[in-house]
Amino acid sequence: MKIEDRQIHVVSPATGEHVGSVPVAGEEDVRAAVRRARIAAETWGRLPVRERVRHLEKVVDRIAARADEIVDVICSETGKSRVEALSADVITACDLAEYYAGVAERVLAPRRVSPGLLKNKKAYKIYSPYGVIGVISPWNYPFTLAAGPAFTALYAGNTVVLKPSEVTPHTGLILGEIFASMGEHRDILQVVTGDGSTGAHLVRSGVDKIAFTGSVGTGKKIMATAAETLTPVVLELGGKDPMIVLADADIDRAAAGAVWGAFTNSGQVCMSVERAYVNERVYDEFVSKVLQRTAQIRQGLHTDPKTEIGSMTFRRQLDIVEAHIADAVAKGARILAGGKRRTDFGGLFFEPTVLVDVNHGMLVMREETFGPVLPIMKVRDDEEAIRLAGDSVYGLNASIWSRNEERARHIAEERIDSGCVAVNDCLVNFAMPGLPFGGVKESGMGRTHGKEGLREFSKVKSVAVDRFGLRGELTWFPYPRGGYGALKKMLNLLYRKGAVNKLRSLR
Ligand code: NAD
Repeated sequence: MKIEDRQIHVVSPATGEHVGSVPVAGEEDVRAAVRRARIAAETWGRLPVRERVRHLEKVVDRIAARADEIVDVICSETGKSRVEALSADVITACDLAEYYAGVAERVLAPRRVSPGLLKNKKAYKIYSPYGVIGVISPWNYPFTLAAGPAFTALYAGNTVVLKPSEVTPHTGLILGEIFASMGEHRDILQVVTGDGSTGAHLVRSGVDKIAFTGSVGTGKKIMATAAETLTPVVLELGGKDPMIVLADADIDRAAAGAVWGAFTNSGQVCMSVERAYVNERVYDEFVSKVLQRTAQIRQGLHTDPKTEIGSMTFRRQLDIVEAHIADAVAKGARILAGGKRRTDFGGLFFEPTVLVDVNHGMLVMREETFGPVLPIMKVRDDEEAIRLAGDSVYGLNASIWSRNEERARHIAEERIDSGCVAVNDCLVNFAMPGLPFGGVKESGMGRTHGKEGLREFSKVKSVAVDRFGLRGELTWFPYPRGGYGALKKMLNLLYRKGAVNKLRSLR
């Protein structure tokens, strides 16, 4: 990717071929897109949820019908394999949309709540759309990380202006083209191409909320900019996800999971296995099985149907991978597999890499590598693994591997500070649309997916209604004489356990 004369020239990271050029949208282009989306929101936001569902299901149908074409575009820009583009990018987006088609009406329905003490009132809450949501997406899963938040926002009744990554703009454009090709509601999804400057214009454009997926650094900038106008944000940021392998784990499964979890999409996954902590009793067996499986991965061009993992996508990321490996080796780590670029295909290929003898003084154990690198650390016991797993500024996902499900679940639920956690599996939370997805600590804030995701894109309004229409209320002026004493009695009666028990004993 090169930017020249306000044009982004996209080059295939796998082959070096020119993919296409798109404009860098300026401030006025962004504002025009937001205006179109706002006009569309007037109709879209007022539609009954059922009608929105009907329309969006037709969009999903069209995405499925054009899947091969979408996969071609994704692969040309990312260099990933076709099977990974179809499974993790297109199918996950369709599955999320289908999930919302099934639950949106129920999740967004008004809800009665208890009026508490005030039994003479009705209390309920309603969900309504924000208006226009700005979606800013990254390049690693350019389709699902654009379509996912966009669909969620749309089901909730908002319209969307999408700013895809400058590395993968054509994938954003094909999504926009599909929405525009529908006979009606053509303007509910607008796409503006460009780099960080275009994203910054979108944050300042007056949109009603920003849904950002990308790096921690950019997330902080976006939050700072959004603070100027108090525009709310959802931030899905980076991760350094730990894998904990307990002594009683099924090592065949854990090794297979580690290899897939670390190397799928060439490791460019926010929730990939970025570091493994393995009990010393099973460490040797685990490492040996990981090496066997790593050697079997079919890396190649996306044009080859046998390819499992393709090239990396972004040159800057490849530089980070090399820097992390060099730092680790300089501090005593050993490379047991990979460790270098592959030059036989010509593009940004990096060999799946296994590192051992690693420690937390190394970048590869502390900063997001976002590449095909699996550092494995031997630990004495569960406590050491849990402590090291928690020694991170990130908290997106984690995985615990053990044959004792109860013990693994205890660690997952009670001992790991993370937005998502998996037992005897990894990366899978994202693919289950009913599970809220997001991080804690520097991995972000807010949730996409699940009911929480739909409500993240909805404004909640509390409504209180008087039931009896009396002339006044006990709580209004004039306060009755002796009111304080009466209130105090009520307080004691209702909330002091001793008083309640005394009353009960009188019965
Ligand atoms: P990035 O932060 O460089 O860019 C993401 C998007 O932000 C791009 O569209 C970019 O043009 C835009 N942008 C850049 N500067 C901006 C600014 N000042 N204002 C507004 N927009 C701006 O991230 P990336 O390199 O595209 O993606 C990789 C990162 O994304 C990794 O850190 C990865 O962990 C993270 N990620 C997180 C999730 C998640 O769900 N938590 C998912 C995938 C990727």
